[in-house]
Amino acid sequence: MSTEDDPRTLRIRREVLGIRENLRKKSQALDQCQEQIDWLAGWAALLDAGDTLPKEALEFLDITTLHGWTKLTLRLRFAGLAENLKERRETIVDEVKRLNEALKSMEICPQCSGAGKVFTVVSYERMDEGAIIPRPHSKPCNLCAGKGRISVAN
Ligand SMILES: [Zn+2]
Repeated sequence: MSTEDDPRTLRIRREVLGIRENLRKKSQALDQCQEQIDWLAGWAALLDAGDTLPKEALEFLDITTLHGWTKLTLRLRFAGLAENLKERRETIVDEVKRLNEALKSMEICPQCSGAGKVFTVVSYERMDEGAIIPRPHSKPCNLCAGKGRISVAN
């Protein structure tokens, strides 16, 4: 069985690709969060300047008319939504950190624990004083080809 087909390699590869996909989605979600935070800031500035809101702002608020809204209630609504988005952004940033850490540990070769070599035969050597000393021998790990990491192409 070649190293590439080793079930451990395949499992790591699958998990790494899954996490990378998840990270891509988180990155998009972060961009979207930031974009919406920027919209809200822009609309709040329009309100402050006494300008009318664009229809996108109404769509974002999921309302069809500004009837019943005042400058103050709109301002509060924008502030509340921006607050939620900032919290969401922080949550995503934490998740991204966690995923990146998981990714790092996941790529470590499970056979050699990242050492790149495995200890194979231990021979014993008798010293002059009569003590017997074990001599570990190592060889490059065959699962990761001595790299210590399972490389997963992008
Ligand atoms: Zn290895």
